[in-house]
Amino acid sequence: MNHTLLNALRDALGPAQVLTDGDLSAYELDWRKRYRGKAAAVVRPGSAAEVAAVVKACAVHGASLVPQGGNTGLVGGSVPDGSGTQVLLSLGRMNRVRQVDAANLTMTVEAGCVLQAVQEAAAAEGLLFPLSLAAEGSCTIGGNLATNAGGTQVLRYGNARELCLGLEVVTAAGEVWDGLSGLRKDNTGYDLRNIFIGSEGTLGIITAATLKLYPQPAAAGTALAACPSLEACVALLQLAQARLGAGLTGFEVMERFALSLVEKHFPHLPRPLGPSPWMVLLEQSDTESEAHAREGFEALLEAALEAGVITDAAVAESRAQSQALWHLRESIPLAQAEEGLNIKHDIALPVSRIPAFVASTDAALRTAFAGVRLVNFGHLGDGNLHYNVQAPEGVVADEFLAAHEASVNALVYDAVLAHGGSISAEHGIGALKRDELARRKPAVALGLMRSIKRALDPENRLNPGRVL
Ligand code: FAD
Ligand code: ZN
Repeated sequence: MNHTLLNALRDALGPAQVLTDGDLSAYELDWRKRYRGKAAAVVRPGSAAEVAAVVKACAVHGASLVPQGGNTGLVGGSVPDGSGTQVLLSLGRMNRVRQVDAANLTMTVEAGCVLQAVQEAAAAEGLLFPLSLAAEGSCTIGGNLATNAGGTQVLRYGNARELCLGLEVVTAAGEVWDGLSGLRKDNTGYDLRNIFIGSEGTLGIITAATLKLYPQPAAAGTALAACPSLEACVALLQLAQARLGAGLTGFEVMERFALSLVEKHFPHLPRPLGPSPWMVLLEQSDTESEAHAREGFEALLEAALEAGVITDAAVAESRAQSQALWHLRESIPLAQAEEGLNIKHDIALPVSRIPAFVASTDAALRTAFAGVRLVNFGHLGDGNLHYNVQAPEGVVADEFLAAHEASVNALVYDAVLAHGGSISAEHGIGALKRDELARRKPAVALGLMRSIKRALDPENRLNPGRVL
């Protein structure tokens, strides 16, 4: 272990915020338990100045850094490698809400604020911060921005990038860039903010952000609809967009097998509709009232029923019922984890191509890997599927993955690109998809990305080996 580095870190932060002993697995093991690393130290700075001091100490002693927020990332980007030489920089102590500016509809928060706390701070002012995802109780806004997270309301409000107006960033040189602007218009040169958003800790360390807020809608509504096919789900999306316009905030699909895993592992959850090849969860917000929202849904669902686009539907009558419907959707990743390790594909496609992609890729996978189980769900409204592959019933998941993960990925990603899609929609690249990116991104794009990395982090100190 590098004692001079540890001493420099202790001088910068005080010994209590430099952890080297005891159980550090909360920092060293990723959420999916697929990547376990070993840190030289876990450091917990309390300010941007302290983050800068850590970066400078690491530069002097030749160490690299891995920034970490809530450690809920799904692509192995948030934990150190196994070398025992990297410093894990946890932003968890930087969790202050610095300011809410209601008239400007913005708030400025530190990077380690948990997403749910950000939502609550906005709600306390009667405002809405719309980023929402199942990990919101533990992921941080810094991690959301570093991965450009999506979630369940992208259809209406955009992903994390579109909800951020300004950033404070500690650079690889240990400088603090104060770009905490609350401006909606600012064309003064290159857009630095958007270079750091989605860079997964490889270009700079986000220490604070100014976020966009919205008025709280008067009411929300949730409905569940049974669809006979994926084509019908797409037709329902078109109908819902035409009828509800900007009121449609979420449109999630769930295939029958994905829901059957929820039934198997969480049998106590209510099931409002009988089994169906596909289910759609629709969410709308309404500027008038709950009753108005319900009427809007009922008219839409009647039209959809008449058109044969849906076979059955249930509209939530209360907040509790609405939460129960969302709970079904959000339980899919957890049920999948209970069922065993699986191969995740977080992919984006033009919505119009999704039914053809799924039909042909399902068939190809079933032919190539007999008995394979496909767990398909996601944010259809954004053209984003979580198209996951689970080992055949009775086959040990570890063995299936060891033998077939690379060929499953090749088949799926070839199909994604053939349909004009992307191999990462909202989870990022991290370590998991780094080699796929190198293989599949056009050479010119890769060259530009490498130039940006060299310019901003010439010594490759920030999250090396991730993304590129
Ligand atoms: P971490 O996991 O700690 O880090 C993620 C990456 O960002 C790492 O590369 C890390 O180095 C970097 N990073 C973290 N903080 C900073 C910082 N301050 N500065 C620079 N780099 C930083 N994602 C979605 O997009 N949509 C979903 O619907 C969604 N659902 C999820 C559901 C579950 C149950 C789980 C476990 C995850 C889900 N995710 C989803 C993935 C994950 O929650 C998000 O990517 C989240 O935004 C990560 O935030 P975090 O604070 O946990 O980041
Ligand atoms: Zn998702």
